[in-house]
Amino acid sequence: MSLPRRPESRVSLLDRRTVVSTIERYPLNMTFFSTPERIEIGGVPFIASHEKPTRRDGLLYYRRVAEHFGLDARPGEEVTSVTRVDERFELAVKRRHDSTRYTADNVVFATGYYDWPNRLGIPGEDLPHVAHYFTEGHRHWHQRVVVIGGGNSAVDAALECWRAGAQVTMVHLGDRFDGTVKPWVLPDITNRAQGEEHHREVAQPRRRHHGRGSRNRGG
Ligand SMILES: Cc1cc2nc3c(=O)[nH]c(=O)nc-3n(C[C@H](O)[C@H](O)[C@H](O)COP(=O)(O)OP(=O)(O)OC[C@H]3O[C@@H](n4cnc5c(N)ncnc54)[C@H](O)[C@@H]3O)c2cc1C
Repeated sequence: MSLPRRPESRVSLLDRRTVVSTIERYPLNMTFFSTPERIEIGGVPFIASHEKPTRRDGLLYYRRVAEHFGLDARPGEEVTSVTRVDERFELAVKRRHDSTRYTADNVVFATGYYDWPNRLGIPGEDLPHVAHYFTEGHRHWHQRVVVIGGGNSAVDAALECWRAGAQVTMVHLGDRFDGTVKPWVLPDITNRAQGEEHHREVAQPRRRHHGRGSRNRGG
């Protein structure tokens, strides 16, 4: 659907981080699952250099869309409470250096899910070397890495760590990868997985040999 350009917009977007902050926090080398036309918005064509846009393509595109429509985006503004006052809403907002209040006729919550990882509730989950977000494989070079999960994100992280020279073990429920794993990625991970027939819940992607000693470094 094509939207009219409205620089005088009376809609404000408050975000404690920034626009499309989930995409900002994608793994650095991630490509979208979707092709560009599936994720374009406001009738603004999304032209990407590859069939599947990269994280960088996405950030550039959505910034441009926000600018094109003159969106009143206010990064770094966190809503801490919303209160009904007569027929309107009053919002308490924390900013980087101060706080403020806004009133509004309507409030739309679009707070997403990326801020809230699926925690397992197990001991050790908060140790400094345990992460709930994946950035890139490089820092895991010559380390032992355990990836918990068998869906798209887990498979992407496992493959990237393995390609960066990590020794990777995947732990997941069930005897196969999640049915949602991208069809073009599935052969990549299954061809590298070994040992499922012995350990139904553990698949260990093979890794290239990186010389003596590399397999035993701590992770
Ligand atoms: C690795 C990965 C790959 C993906 N690939 C695709 C794909 O190929 N195609 C596809 O369609 N989707 C994909 N997705 C899903 C897509 O990125 C998300 O569905 C989408 O970004 C969700 O957008 P959102 O605006 O609903 O939520 P979010 O992007 O999570 O935005 C919510 C915002 O609310 C802000 N916020 C939260 N609480 C407050 C508060 N109290 N005050 C102020 N601000 C607050 C947060 O800072 C955040 O910026 C992928 C997701 C991941 C993680």
